[in-house]
Amino acid sequence: MNDKSISFLVDLLKKSRFTVALTGAGISKASGIPPFRGEDGIWNKYDPMLLDLNYFFQHPLESWKFMAQTFFSFLDDSKPNPAHIALAGLEEENFLQAIITQNIDCLHQAAGSCNVLEYHGGLDYLKCIGCGDRNIFEKKVLSKLPPVCSKCGDILKPDIVFFSENISRKILQKIADFLPRTELVLVIGTSAEVYPASLIPVEAKRAGARIVEINLRETTLTNQISDVFIRGKAEFVLPDVLRKLKK
Ligand code: NAD
Repeated sequence: MNDKSISFLVDLLKKSRFTVALTGAGISKASGIPPFRGEDGIWNKYDPMLLDLNYFFQHPLESWKFMAQTFFSFLDDSKPNPAHIALAGLEEENFLQAIITQNIDCLHQAAGSCNVLEYHGGLDYLKCIGCGDRNIFEKKVLSKLPPVCSKCGDILKPDIVFFSENISRKILQKIADFLPRTELVLVIGTSAEVYPASLIPVEAKRAGARIVEINLRETTLTNQISDVFIRGKAEFVLPDVLRKLKK
């Protein structure tokens, strides 16, 4: 069943003049980073409120403790896995024009992908909630939580999008610019439950793109928005697709 879908995807990739990948936490699972939902999901252990912007303003220490125990603890050892590497290979071979990632782990860039839009920001930068100063994350800031700005003394926040926080207008504009000419969207390892990222495949479909989903399990997009659903681990499916394209 998957063999047929994979051959179909290979065909679509060959024909498409503008292909975009939308990735989610599932693509980084093989790099040792747990997703939010599902088996081993972070929300099985923690309250999602810890990543709410208003909660962060009122309880920065609690929110920072959560981030130090989760995101920052596994970032150290995580490396791109075969799925990230295959997407970088697809870009290099000109089969993929952009990646929109909901992930904050910077693993697409580490794998060598160049055109990466971080929809929810990245953990590699911290921003001061007072003066707006933005600096590269350094591990030493975790020694005293919550970390504070060396310029104004206010609290530093990872430069990622919290719940109830807006997506960067620059990112939204870039996506709006290329969505109308997108012919194929690969939706990889995302539950498509986080709004407004979940609208990207819907809008792309409306503009005429084909949608191919790669996931372990069906999502709200499957059978409604997706033209093809490939059930499987991204770290196996994507290298297979790249191999077949290069044949
Ligand atoms: P999610 O946790 O809601 O869903 C993960 C999805 O990945 C599920 O549908 C699951 O079935 C699928 N999946 C799991 N393993 C897979 C594999 N090996 N191959 C293919 N699919 C697999 O994740 P989401 O949809 O990205 O949304 C939640 C938010 O989580 C995002 O906004 C992101 O910012 C944040 N997040 C990011 C990271 C990260 O940066 N790595 C980690 C946790 C959460």
